[in-house]
Amino acid sequence: MRRIQHFIDGQHTPGSSGRVSDVYDPATGKVQAQVDLASVSEVNQVVASATKAAIGWSESSLTQRTQIMFRFRELLAARTDELAKVISSEHGKVVSDAAGEVARGLENVEFACGIAHHLKGEINEQVSDGIEVYSLRQPLGVVAGITPFNFPAMVPAWMFATAIACGNAFICKPSERDPSAAMLIAEWLIEAGLPPGVFSVLNGDKEAVDALIDHEDVAAISFVGSTPIASYVYERATNAGKRVQALGGAKNHMLVLPDADIDMAADAAVSAAYGSAGERCMAVSALVAVGSIADELVQAIANRIPEVKIGPGTEPEAEMGPLITQEHRDRVAGYVERAKEAGAVAVVDGATADLPSDGFFYGPTLLDEVTSEMECYRDEIFGPVLSVVRVETFRDAIDLINSNPFGNGTAIFTRDGGAARQFQHEVQVGMVGINVPIPVPVAYHSFGGWKSSLFGDTHMYGPEGVRFYSRAKAVTARWPDPSSSQVDLGFPRND
Ligand code: NAD
Repeated sequence: MRRIQHFIDGQHTPGSSGRVSDVYDPATGKVQAQVDLASVSEVNQVVASATKAAIGWSESSLTQRTQIMFRFRELLAARTDELAKVISSEHGKVVSDAAGEVARGLENVEFACGIAHHLKGEINEQVSDGIEVYSLRQPLGVVAGITPFNFPAMVPAWMFATAIACGNAFICKPSERDPSAAMLIAEWLIEAGLPPGVFSVLNGDKEAVDALIDHEDVAAISFVGSTPIASYVYERATNAGKRVQALGGAKNHMLVLPDADIDMAADAAVSAAYGSAGERCMAVSALVAVGSIADELVQAIANRIPEVKIGPGTEPEAEMGPLITQEHRDRVAGYVERAKEAGAVAVVDGATADLPSDGFFYGPTLLDEVTSEMECYRDEIFGPVLSVVRVETFRDAIDLINSNPFGNGTAIFTRDGGAARQFQHEVQVGMVGINVPIPVPVAYHSFGGWKSSLFGDTHMYGPEGVRFYSRAKAVTARWPDPSSSQVDLGFPRND
């Protein structure tokens, strides 16, 4: 059985805890590897290695950091297919989708190639006679990132590219369900010239996460995952005095106004609800149909669902793969069953789809007549299930979205510029699409939701990522003419 270890001090390092977790191939349902789960002593080992590496790395020149990032960018771009196949084999998403994930991660590396510009400080000359004040940004030291299963390459890249370019050492704790992408990234960073210990991978579960949060030499924690764990990590890490950004789950609404183009809206809904089997934090899971458009729109979506090609991620024609585990597949099926019992209409029922006999597959599901009280609307299902909520007016739609506890992403489909502008202004959601169903911001705008979708003050990557992974220092400098020096016990004033 293949064993996935840790990556410490620039090398694959076997675990010593004796605890492991199975890594499945979700397309066959078979265990393909086992991953080591770290104990506190391995956490101490990786933090000691990162702490040592951080000292030298924080003194590296911006030119050195930039050159390494450029080299890594080239390796990642050239090996996108290799990484995509590894992602698909452990996550289940189709290879083309995994390649898209790598491409979005690559954008963060490209952003980090410009770190010299992003770290520029500010200066005021002559704030008082002969005095300058300037602000610098310096690295934090050792920082850790805890990442979810659904983007095993892109979400680590949201964090490590900026963290490392800012001069920190970064410890990645990937999901135990699909840890191999982070291990490949670690190898390629070394190949690009990154000194050992600046990027480490610590595999593990709650025990590793808790020990990383509690370790006094870890300065900051970035987390992406489900809302209950994000909230827990935020609380524990802030109590430990750390800087924290913890991104949680989502319930993303797509609002369709009666003037929208039906075919465009239906294409977008199918892509955004069923892509990656709905296991995206920016997936559309609630479709809000305003007024007269509902019947025609539901029919247009239902007509498209049989065309979605379901199969193992490695099949070139497959568009939707399996879910991550059998347990999760059964959880999704349970939501659909209970939704029907609660009065939702299963226009298309994933349980009856023609699916591969092995693996953790579940078919695209379209639920109509869903109400805001139903469990299938309230909870993040994280599967290929789209719930249609019918409302009378645009105002009802905005109120519905704003009363939802999540605020990650949302989209409006309309031809009316005034309505779109009102929506972007009033909606209490962190990322908004206008005729764009999955509005993941490009790497030079930061990513983050509102309300229960984010705990902390800064969004991830982009300009806010630079602020998160660096701290400000303000210097007041005076190079006086010694001939004018005198004792003055008064409070310093700016004359
Ligand atoms: P998860 O919360 O189960 O796990 C995330 C990470 O936390 C993993 O590394 C896991 O090992 C660790 N973890 C799990 N339980 C823990 C515990 N009790 N204590 C400490 N650490 C623990 O999430 P997941 O199932 O891997 O990922 C899916 C979730 O992530 C969904 O809710 C999705 O919306 C969310 N997500 C959010 C974003 C975003 O940007 N907001 C992006 C991707 C995924």
